[in-house]
Amino acid sequence: MNYSFQLLGTLVNGEPIIKLPPKSISLKSIEFSSEERAFYLKLEADSRQQFKAYAAAGTVKQNYANILLMLLRLRQACDHPVLVKGYYAEAVARDSLEMARQLPREMLMNLFSQLDTSLAICAICSDPPEDAVVTMCGHVFCYQCVSDHITGDDNLCPALGCKEVLGTDSVFSKATLKSCISDGSDDIASTSSSFHVDECSIVQSGYVSSKIKATVDILNSLEIYHASEAENCGGDYSDKPAKAIVFSQWTGMLDLLEFSLNPAFLQYRRLDGTMSLSARDRAVREFNTDPEVTVMLMSLKAGNLGLNMVAACHVILLDLWWNPTTEDQAIDRAHRIGQTRPVTVSRLTIKDTVEDRILALQEEKRKMVSSAFGEDQAGAHATKLTMEDLRYLFMA
Ligand SMILES: [Zn+2]
Ligand SMILES: [Zn+2]
Repeated sequence: MNYSFQLLGTLVNGEPIIKLPPKSISLKSIEFSSEERAFYLKLEADSRQQFKAYAAAGTVKQNYANILLMLLRLRQACDHPVLVKGYYAEAVARDSLEMARQLPREMLMNLFSQLDTSLAICAICSDPPEDAVVTMCGHVFCYQCVSDHITGDDNLCPALGCKEVLGTDSVFSKATLKSCISDGSDDIASTSSSFHVDECSIVQSGYVSSKIKATVDILNSLEIYHASEAENCGGDYSDKPAKAIVFSQWTGMLDLLEFSLNPAFLQYRRLDGTMSLSARDRAVREFNTDPEVTVMLMSLKAGNLGLNMVAACHVILLDLWWNPTTEDQAIDRAHRIGQTRPVTVSRLTIKDTVEDRILALQEEKRKMVSSAFGEDQAGAHATKLTMEDLRYLFMA
């Protein structure tokens, strides 16, 4: 068959000319362990109290970024308690250390103040930044989001109205700036998270969270180990192993999952926005062509829509995103032209948490997008949360 891409949208008697194999999406509702539940409830109670205080003072709008950050912590707690602590923020953006050393102290101080976590929102993904970095022009992003952008075709700053040219040496992390600002800066060094997280055994990367356990169980249940196993099954699909892509929004979650995967049983590759273009190309090529490599751990923020990964016929989404379109696009890396097998999608959520409310909100956004906006605008409109959304997410 040699259809061109343009034919995809064409309908004949109401049916598309090219029919993709079916995709089935299932929601896996997982129970927290009792210690995870206790950790989560404490976090939720604290953030509800804070939200009520903002509401009582009439300052919900002014604290939009703070509220997003509290929501981020709740969402992360559903994946793994250690993410809430933000362990991974120190190891990024080393390329820029030389550049930072040459900047005047005043400029470094200015950039540092832009990175204050309680104020910043990433201009690319509209979430509080993961591994926050600030550009030379003073705009704050997730390290992953901006790296992904810089290594793409376009190296202009993606902040609205900003046309600065960016390189990997003009993106600064907090640690980089801090190390270049001379002594006597205790006042700015003490910008701590608004949450006090109690030290306990589950706030450690060695702890296996319920979601990670469930993910490993799913991967183990898929017939993806060896091509030879698939041969024994017979059927139409025996020529290639059935591979899986696992998505998360957070590179920290991918790190944690890696701790629980045994490379002796299951070979995986990884793809995230912090990797160089050549490293990403290699990971995709090996996943698509090497029969021994059966799992791809992938960041939802690693944005290349053209990426073809039809070697996979299982997709696992570790966490939920506000905007359902982003999830659809992730699934479409596998469910697209060239896919010859049915695709199964597992969406993992934790029972009785903010994720229930995100699911409900996604449904609303889906309806809103399909009724009011063209597909092109769906992303921008659905990503931004309204005051009403925030109230619902905290209080329902
Ligand atoms: Zn971002
Ligand atoms: Zn800029």
